[in-house]
Amino acid sequence: MKKSVVLYKRLSDVLMARLQEQVDVTLIDDPAGVGKAALHAALPTAHGLLGASMRLDDSLLALAPQLEVVSSVSVGVDNYDIEAFNRRGVMLTNTPDVLTETTADTGFALILACARRVVELDGWIRAGHWKASIGPAHFGCDVQGKTLGIIGMGRVGEALARRAAAGFGMQVLYHSRNPRPEVEQRYGAGYRSLRALLAESDFVCLTVPLSAATENLIGAAELALMKPSAILVNIARGRVVDEAALVDALKHKRIRGAGLDVMVKEPLPMDSPLLQLENLVLTPHIGSATEETREAMARCAVDNLLAALAGQRPANLVNP
Ligand code: NAP
Repeated sequence: MKKSVVLYKRLSDVLMARLQEQVDVTLIDDPAGVGKAALHAALPTAHGLLGASMRLDDSLLALAPQLEVVSSVSVGVDNYDIEAFNRRGVMLTNTPDVLTETTADTGFALILACARRVVELDGWIRAGHWKASIGPAHFGCDVQGKTLGIIGMGRVGEALARRAAAGFGMQVLYHSRNPRPEVEQRYGAGYRSLRALLAESDFVCLTVPLSAATENLIGAAELALMKPSAILVNIARGRVVDEAALVDALKHKRIRGAGLDVMVKEPLPMDSPLLQLENLVLTPHIGSATEETREAMARCAVDNLLAALAGQRPANLVNP
């Protein structure tokens, strides 16, 4: 008899067909909203779950006594109560590597958009303000040749470092708990304490996982250490930055600007004070959101799920 899988993210036809060959699939849209009752009904017989962007804690796992594996279509695993997974003997898998380069591109898209005021000036043209050649009031700041501080020198951090050093001639500084001598050698990167990195960088990019240690890692005190000319970019998770402190720093121009791909509350509520700020560029959590990369992530998640259900060790097991 085929095993049962609850899918809470739509897959391409190709991947859906591959999954359906091997398992019985129940597709649930919007599992935290209108699909919640259907999810609860499907969990008691589920052997596997595949999806993303849904919190999975002990109370949900308790509804799925047959569950063997949860295959997340993401690299970040902050939505999952890993201790509960371990207690219940449920495997958790993620999709690292395949999204690394695309996420680093997103980081650079935000760095460039903030520095060169791309979004703001696009709006300025559309509003009919372009009557003569622009002057200093609309100048941006250079990216090339500046200093990029990367907080979290993992896969995405290293891909950013490569772009910065090889493509933009930037000096790279980084902070993580463990120094990475090979990264220092490859990209001429310098290891710094968090404080020193914040004080020395022209651009600060966050690429740490969200954890108890990184929640609100950047608050008012850290923002105060940054240069008034510096730009903060967050492509990690919203809760790594104290959003109220960031709003305050941007409002009072204590830093030049910020680019956020991730926010504390997603989707961003329309009454968010972030929306009032001109020196801020927002993207709706698009870090890995290209056609090619999302398909590669979904393929990786399907591979992980099927391997686990076949009794093999999945390639990307988070909780061995
Ligand atoms: P990774 O390879 O695990 O790298 C994360 C790095 O952060 C690690 O090398 C780690 O180094 C460092 N780190 C962990 N805790 C830290 C702390 N308390 N202080 C300083 N550094 C710390 O992960 P990745 O693949 O690069 O992805 C990083 C994160 O980016 C993901 O977890 C995810 O949340 C986010 N992400 C977002 C998007 C998006 O759509 N915006 C896409 C992909 C990834 P040490 O262990 O040496 O500290």
